[in-house]
Amino acid sequence: MSQYKNIVIIGASCAGSTVANKLVGEVPKSHRILLIDAFGFSFWPPASLRASVVPGWEDRIVAPLRTSTVFQADTQHQVIAPNRVVELRENVVILEKPFEGSRELPFFRCVLATGSIQHLPMRPTPGFTEAEYKSALRKAQEEVRLATKIVIVGGGPVGLEYSGEIRQRFPNKEITIVHPLEHVLNPPTTSQHTRTVGLTYSPPHTPVKFSKNLEGQLKSLNIKVILNEKVEIPTGGDTIPGEWDGKFGLQDGIKKVQLSSGRTIEADFVFLSVGNKAESSLVANIDEKALVNGMGEMIAVDQYLKVKSTNPILKKYYAIGDAAASKGWKTAQGAGMDGDGAAANILAEIRGKPLKVHVRPTIHGYIVTLGTKVGVGLLTLPLLGDTVMPWAMLKNMKGPALLVDDLFITRFKGSEKVTAAPIPA
Ligand SMILES: Cc1cc2nc3c(=O)[nH]c(=O)nc-3n(C[C@H](O)[C@H](O)[C@H](O)COP(=O)(O)OP(=O)(O)OC[C@H]3O[C@@H](n4cnc5c(N)ncnc54)[C@H](O)[C@@H]3O)c2cc1C
Repeated sequence: MSQYKNIVIIGASCAGSTVANKLVGEVPKSHRILLIDAFGFSFWPPASLRASVVPGWEDRIVAPLRTSTVFQADTQHQVIAPNRVVELRENVVILEKPFEGSRELPFFRCVLATGSIQHLPMRPTPGFTEAEYKSALRKAQEEVRLATKIVIVGGGPVGLEYSGEIRQRFPNKEITIVHPLEHVLNPPTTSQHTRTVGLTYSPPHTPVKFSKNLEGQLKSLNIKVILNEKVEIPTGGDTIPGEWDGKFGLQDGIKKVQLSSGRTIEADFVFLSVGNKAESSLVANIDEKALVNGMGEMIAVDQYLKVKSTNPILKKYYAIGDAAASKGWKTAQGAGMDGDGAAANILAEIRGKPLKVHVRPTIHGYIVTLGTKVGVGLLTLPLLGDTVMPWAMLKNMKGPALLVDDLFITRFKGSEKVTAAPIPA
């Protein structure tokens, strides 16, 4: 039995690593931070699309995840990776593989920073090593190089950014984005600009002006956008020669892709970008009512970022970042803000002080890049609200380096130095 009171953090990405970094240096010697991740390496989703198109970028979006890269040598804190938490219990989590001789890991408080579930290339497939993720990204680069007619299903930020990355590298490929709304992204469909209601989460809308600005840029890049249409995705059964069978990625020849209106478009490469799901299964197994909308949805949290459930098992759990129904956009920046809030309340609990209501700072950036040289941003400002920012103000913020050096590498504060691979020439 360990001498420490453990603060267990499940998920060592944007949200979880922020909690760990905030707590180091603040927790008393009696407490130990244990940062757990299912992968044995860290990855940076905001640069994953470029890494799936531009050779060399696959080396820039990964970093070593071990105790020495996260914590200083003279501390009691540890990284447990690769290892997966498979069950939540009262005061204990169950690991897939033993740590210190046991799969049962007792804790003082536990933070669920399990993020979201997305397919390749946005996130590595469960069980991947770093080498396997990089190899999958290289395969994706080769497949897109061979494609001639690319259809992107979904015009959210992922679909748009992917189209821009392809266009910058391949000026002559045919690229079509199919999006079910009147404009790209997530503009309000009614005059009401709804944000988060109470403690339930609904994704904030993006202003129409923001969408229109991007549509103009897509047009000038010769990227076709089909609005108010859905791609019909076949779900198995008989396939007719020449028709798309629902497989994503590179096809064996040109296929006809069916749209909801009945018309068809041609593609030899189909990319799916229709949003992501919260990784909330650990909580769902205990109390499905603790999810905002049932299985696969975000974990409901109270104003202190603690899991909102009547089940006593979940009493000492916090939930933050993409996995949690905390208010605001699901971004790396937002996940970090949640991390700050959870760390402050865990410290308050250690010190026997009252918990603080978590309010994300108002200032929040949302930037969509279309390669390194084009894009548009939205800055949420106090009093002014959402303000569309011209590219001239943003061009050095995200486009060329995709925040790797500023937001990803800076997360590693251990005794072993971590550096980003250079931007490929
Ligand atoms: C293409 C793309 C572009 C983006 N661009 C931007 C941008 O420009 N700016 C921005 O701010 N945000 C951007 N984002 C969003 C941002 O990447 C996410 O909001 C952020 O990664 C969420 O962080 P997180 O820590 O909550 O979850 P994640 O990053 O999803 O990490 C969750 C971690 O938990 C681990 N985990 C899950 N379950 C378990 C378990 N049971 N046991 C152990 N470990 C577990 C996973 O392995 C993973 O490492 C982008 C995302 C994508 C895909």
